[in-house]
Amino acid sequence: MKKKILYLFSDTGGGHRSAATAIINAVEHLKKGKYSQKMVDVFAECSGFLNVFAKLYGPVIKYSPQMWGRLYYWLDDEKKLEALEKMSGPFILEELTKLIKEEKPAVIISVHPMINHLTVKAIKQSGLKIPFVVVITDPVTLHRAWIKPEVDRAIVATPEARTAAIKYGMPEEKIKVCGMPIDPKFFLKDEEKEAARKKDRLKPKLFTILLMGGGEGGGKMYDLIEALSREKLKVQLIVIAGRNKKLETNLKSKIKKFNFPLRVYGFTDQVHELMAESDLIITKAGPGTIAEALAMGLPIIITSWLPGQEEGNVEFVVRENIGRVSKDPQRVVEIVKELQQPLEFAEIMKNIKRVSRPQAAVEIAREIFNYL
Ligand code: UDP
Repeated sequence: MKKKILYLFSDTGGGHRSAATAIINAVEHLKKGKYSQKMVDVFAECSGFLNVFAKLYGPVIKYSPQMWGRLYYWLDDEKKLEALEKMSGPFILEELTKLIKEEKPAVIISVHPMINHLTVKAIKQSGLKIPFVVVITDPVTLHRAWIKPEVDRAIVATPEARTAAIKYGMPEEKIKVCGMPIDPKFFLKDEEKEAARKKDRLKPKLFTILLMGGGEGGGKMYDLIEALSREKLKVQLIVIAGRNKKLETNLKSKIKKFNFPLRVYGFTDQVHELMAESDLIITKAGPGTIAEALAMGLPIIITSWLPGQEEGNVEFVVRENIGRVSKDPQRVVEIVKELQQPLEFAEIMKNIKRVSRPQAAVEIAREIFNYL
């Protein structure tokens, strides 16, 4: 029988699912068919009650990012996290333990901050000896909830994240810096931009901007599109609205109103292809999207971010000079013009090459093999 790798995640945003899928595909890329791999949305499968709260993530970050920020900082406290763990235990521990006993994986991987404490407990309760690896998908600053010193390995994206993990009590020797896991399809894609656009019936030579706001389609994308349109820039736009149905429908109904060609997608599995067609990305500071954009060589304009959770990513973009940051649609228009200047563009591209780690998922897969 094949050894099993069990991935635990929760569908809050798009980043955690993407990270798990990226590692699964990297494992397959290296050792095709050798292991059985399974992803489990922990709250959806083990606790209907806690899943209600997980499902609130989308609406909360869309309608009140400030509220999310307050909750993020409020919970960044050992005592409160302990209390939360105690409170949530009765709603999930039994089912999670049962799941682990049934699946009998050779190794468990978590890509979500809110399940690590519970999983350590559930593994103990199962009576099985299963190595537990946590892949931390907050690349720069991270929330204390990620850290449970009893895990076997904590994989982080950057040296800054390593420092933060140590500060929160993770033993140094358990930490490994590998980068943010992104799907191999992002680094296996090697097509000329013009050819990719032509194939997709876009104008091959026209400067192409990709606009997205994470899995939930957050950020004030509509205002931004209007500002770009007012300026009559010589560009074409690809918009990924993600799960933001309202934005998708609204844009599709007004597609002729804008002063440039506009393509609108809802939640799509073609992000890598759409990035391959683009020259620049405008996005919220989601860690998955930033890592993917870097792998695809796209300068990044950050126009929104979650307080607390994504602030470190914003600082990273500025510090490494791999793009620009502004919440003001008018200023974003100016930045787009600036970044079309060859000198600016070349400088940013040089920095992108320096910081990008497109093969991180492959490195993580190799780490996991040590436990199999
Ligand atoms: N994504 C996707 N399809 C979409 C929108 C987003 O596959 O239509 C993916 C995107 O490629 C990235 C993830 O969802 O891998 C978003 O992760 P990120 O960390 O940027 O933000 P989050 O959604 O977790 O806030």
